[in-house]
Amino acid sequence: MPDPTVNRVVTLPAPDSPLVVREQPLPPVLDDQMLVRVELAGVCATDLHIQRGHIPDFGYPATLGHELVGTVERLGAGFGSDVSGRRLAIGDRVVVMPATPDGVCPSCRRGSRVPACDDWDVIGFANPDERPAGGGWGRYVLCTSARARVFVTRAPAEVTVLTEPAATPIEGLTRAGLRYGDSVLVQGTGTIGLLAIAAARALGAGHITAIGGPARRLGIARALGADTVVDIGEVRDGAARIEHVTAVSPGGLGYDVVMECAGVPATLAEGLSCLAAGGTYIELGHFSDVGDASINPYRHLLSRDARLVAVSGYTPDAFRTALRVVEGLGDAAAALVTHRLPLDRAQDAVDALSPEGGYRLDGTEVGKIVIDPWM
Ligand SMILES: [Zn+2]
Repeated sequence: MPDPTVNRVVTLPAPDSPLVVREQPLPPVLDDQMLVRVELAGVCATDLHIQRGHIPDFGYPATLGHELVGTVERLGAGFGSDVSGRRLAIGDRVVVMPATPDGVCPSCRRGSRVPACDDWDVIGFANPDERPAGGGWGRYVLCTSARARVFVTRAPAEVTVLTEPAATPIEGLTRAGLRYGDSVLVQGTGTIGLLAIAAARALGAGHITAIGGPARRLGIARALGADTVVDIGEVRDGAARIEHVTAVSPGGLGYDVVMECAGVPATLAEGLSCLAAGGTYIELGHFSDVGDASINPYRHLLSRDARLVAVSGYTPDAFRTALRVVEGLGDAAAALVTHRLPLDRAQDAVDALSPEGGYRLDGTEVGKIVIDPWM
């Protein structure tokens, strides 16, 4: 097979400008680098927020696509192994954690409970003029240092492409200290909410309730492990939802863990109102600034000894667990993928995730859209 020398990637020149597919020369792969031939890369609401300029301090232009799975195409002599120490080989299917720390900045040296680096190299957020093959919405991705977190998998790409979105809810459940049998309420049944249900089930949750819609997604929520589903289209009033959702919790006492996966400010007060005494609220749906939420510190927090956990990223450990969870789901995970599109249609994919797009594409409701750069 000839060495790849040209890449096709989707780039975003500036906020509020259309996506552009461009060709990009590929440099030789250095000793501490790895070139991945992308099989699939997911489209995420974060990509919509990036395009609309909703993420403070985001650097433009950018190559997009941070949820990727592919095969090892070229391997530098010093690149070595995957995260578990397994020797990598050409042709291995790998899932790559998009963010790689530089390892030398003050945040990296200090270390901390949460992933922190002052100079992340992020696949899917990289400048195409400075870093070639820097996004999953392209034929190739270059891992630019041996510090990249790479995970070998034997499961199909349609399944493992869901690893990255599953990692955030797993990080949340880990930080919340989920115990075996804990009751869990998931607010929202988008891809993150559905993967949160699957993660809670896999990690040993007891009764799981999901609030969301429409009906097709609630069916998937049940298949992934929700015991009770509440259709937001049927119980439209917030106070009525709190009453109903609490009534179906074990003993009617509320939930040990509530996960916010909707990205709507009003969900905060509603979800806190459904917490059991001593429960933990996990905020992971607001990846962009969509406005303020109002809570009552006594009623929502102190009176129930509530704990708040906010999650903006994940550790390699959570990412590895996420991969094992989606591998275990198999076809049930692949059922979340509703559309497969070529690079040229990346804009259609992003538009479909906007309220104006109506969450529909090519006549069907949108779940997880994936880009296949070889279509
Ligand atoms: Zn650093």
